[in-house]
Amino acid sequence: MARYIFITGGVVSSLGKGLMAASLAALLQARGYKVRIRKFDPYLNVDPGTMSPYQHGEVYVTDDGAETDLDLGHYERYTGVSARQSDNITSGRVYRDIIAKERRGDYLGATVQVIPHVTDAIKEFALADQEDLDFVLCEIGGTVGDIESLPFIETIRQLRNELEPDQSCLIHVTLVPYVSAAGELKTKPTQHSVRELTSLGVQPNLLLCRCEHPLPETERAKIALFCNVRKEAVIQALDASSIYAVPLQYHREGLDEEVLRHFGMLNKSPQPNLAVWDDIIDRYDHPEGEVTIGVVGKYVGLPDAYKSLNEALVHGGMANRVKVNIRWIDAEVFELDDADIAAQLEPLHGILVPGGFGERGSEGKIASVRFARERKVPFFGICLGMQMACIEGARNTAGIAAASSTEFGQTEEPVVGIITEWMSKEGLQQRSAATDLGGTMRLGAYDAVLAGNSHVSRIYGGQTEISERHRHRYEVNSAYKERLEAGGLIFSGMSPDGLLPEIVERPDHPWFVGVQFHPELKSKPFDPHPLFAGFIAAALEQSRLV
Ligand code: GLN
Repeated sequence: MARYIFITGGVVSSLGKGLMAASLAALLQARGYKVRIRKFDPYLNVDPGTMSPYQHGEVYVTDDGAETDLDLGHYERYTGVSARQSDNITSGRVYRDIIAKERRGDYLGATVQVIPHVTDAIKEFALADQEDLDFVLCEIGGTVGDIESLPFIETIRQLRNELEPDQSCLIHVTLVPYVSAAGELKTKPTQHSVRELTSLGVQPNLLLCRCEHPLPETERAKIALFCNVRKEAVIQALDASSIYAVPLQYHREGLDEEVLRHFGMLNKSPQPNLAVWDDIIDRYDHPEGEVTIGVVGKYVGLPDAYKSLNEALVHGGMANRVKVNIRWIDAEVFELDDADIAAQLEPLHGILVPGGFGERGSEGKIASVRFARERKVPFFGICLGMQMACIEGARNTAGIAAASSTEFGQTEEPVVGIITEWMSKEGLQQRSAATDLGGTMRLGAYDAVLAGNSHVSRIYGGQTEISERHRHRYEVNSAYKERLEAGGLIFSGMSPDGLLPEIVERPDHPWFVGVQFHPELKSKPFDPHPLFAGFIAAALEQSRLV
């Protein structure tokens, strides 16, 4: 029987509920428990796949091809448990499914209502696939008090009655702001937020109070009194030095202990083994050098748009015990007439062109690939970045001056083009070039076969078969393979049927790799992705040269 931990947020958004859920799950795992984390998103999009990264940060893709909220990335990075389609639900999906059922007549003439139809659908999602788990953590997106989140809170209310009395726990994450004019931490917003929650019939068991200054005992006692929780269950959550310090910090504050006490499990629980987290934070806090990587992309104004990439670079640094400074460079600046590309790129020890959509900034990205190739600076192209590396190679080393991608409009030389048929594990996949944008991409885990003596097979520790996650509509056109290879760009990884190029590399360059997939989605602090570990190692070499 799995136990349920519901996590809600109050007062303001961006309190780090996702990190909190991930950290608590990691702490429970460190005691030997099996965990899974689910995210309930109250917005009306069916999934975040069509949302701009500026609106909602990166779209995180799971092995089974779901486009999900970026919090699922935190969950995977902290627990190593691969997220699934069934771990993220939105109001949009719930309503879509209910309306489809209603149209089919499945409700047999009943009036379809939020209670019970919407709440039942959410319940079904929360309770699915929990057989072999000890804990299911359910994070509710948004802030208590939002209209959109009401059906989710109502579902928690019902579930808490239906589950056994000791089978669920509710953690409410709040903010205790510091008012500098008064020189005091203020508990009133927390009190109000808990009152809002209890007015919906839900009493929290633990309060995690985010604060910039330590929470004095008097304030803790006051929160406990007014919010109807034990004083020990009011946990202070000071800002952490890094996101990887959060599990250890919450452990010191007694979070996991208090949760287990709530479930009556504390005396039976083994002590946590936190050696992995000690090592991670040691590598992070005590680097033995540093490198600077330039990320030449489009959404550089919002770090959350490249969340997993950012983290994977940090993991690559941990693998090499170096600090990674990331310089976010807007690819469009290189398209200005007087832009001096060399001045911006020369100080870098590695250049990375990440995934992206659309033509904007593409010439700047291609110019960065050229710089990296000619100056022998380590280069890493991811998804769109690999496509740009192929167009650059076609134009400047294979004599195909008009090379382009059909994503950017009609072209005589479609070195990158749309595919309408491909093989997945489930068989032939088909789509028309004109279908709507939601969910029409090659999504999720696909195998690739690596050339035996290639640089990438060495990076992958001698493996010749790998599985990585995809999210793209266009592919490098293998009709150009021979000409690109004659120009020195080798196709060293292909789909198992040999049709789709998955990896390109330049053997005459110290480190030049382009991949059609997103390796950053699978990197973990305790298991850095080999491509990022290798890229940062090459950047470290480069830093010794310049
Ligand atoms: N826009 C490109 C495509 O759809 C690349 C996508 C990506 O980088 N994720 O193929």
